[in-house]
Amino acid sequence: MTPEPAVTPGPAGSGVVVSAAGPFASSSAGASLAGPGPDPAGSRQVRRIFTTRRGGASTGRYESFNLGGAVGDDPAAVAANRVRLAAAAGLPAERVVWMRQVHGTTVTPVTFAVGGAAGGTRAPAAAMVPDPLPDTDGIVTATTGVGLAVLVADCVPVLAADPVAGVIAAVHAGRRGAAEGIVLRMLEQMVALGATAANIEVLLGPAICGTCYEVPLSLHREVAAALPGSASTTDRGTPGLDLRAGVARQLREAGVAGVAVDPRCTYTDTELFSHRRGSPTGRLAGLIWMPS
Ligand SMILES: [Zn+2]
Repeated sequence: MTPEPAVTPGPAGSGVVVSAAGPFASSSAGASLAGPGPDPAGSRQVRRIFTTRRGGASTGRYESFNLGGAVGDDPAAVAANRVRLAAAAGLPAERVVWMRQVHGTTVTPVTFAVGGAAGGTRAPAAAMVPDPLPDTDGIVTATTGVGLAVLVADCVPVLAADPVAGVIAAVHAGRRGAAEGIVLRMLEQMVALGATAANIEVLLGPAICGTCYEVPLSLHREVAAALPGSASTTDRGTPGLDLRAGVARQLREAGVAGVAVDPRCTYTDTELFSHRRGSPTGRLAGLIWMPS
């Protein structure tokens, strides 16, 4: 079984990429967007997608599928993009949970997307998109038909599922959050909802890679001490960080065997948003859900 997921295009022009294979090639977590419901083994189907820059309504620095709501883009364009992502996933827009991420370690259980979408002055697309959950960098649910969305532009998007227990999570793991243990907080919240570490399958999405992510030596040492395995050397021979490597090691040490990595680097892949390559810019999204 390959440790790296294959990446295949989603619906034409949608900007949605379906990541599959690796631990997710099993019947419990199909690769297509079709065929919802429990599989014959009784475990839940789980869907995971990552978006690219393509297929959205945003312009300029945010061209075009920006899903970040706090980066200076036109709110109407962001709302339209969020509606489009939900539609590509086959979810009602009001059933996708978004976060107002703060580089913290809070992981919040949710049962359904909380509407904040009233108000007649909002544009039609915006009226369908719930307000984001404030001050959280992770969300977890055991409810089917609810999409959990995480926003990144170099940080690590973590999508996790225990398909046996029917528990999923989405986490924003940047340098600070990863070093301070948000992925372990995610595991705790998943277990609290009935998940078992050995059954949890994690997909780490597109992020800045260890040969591109240059940091000062002091920071390199500090993060490597907090998150063993994250130290790297850049292609310039300078101190770097590979957050995905550190998070993957942390997960395995916590008993999670199913860790897959989407190897794309946001800094070098111009199909993806990268904060370091050019800020301000947009955010790509990772989305995970259990079809109802
Ligand atoms: Zn890179």
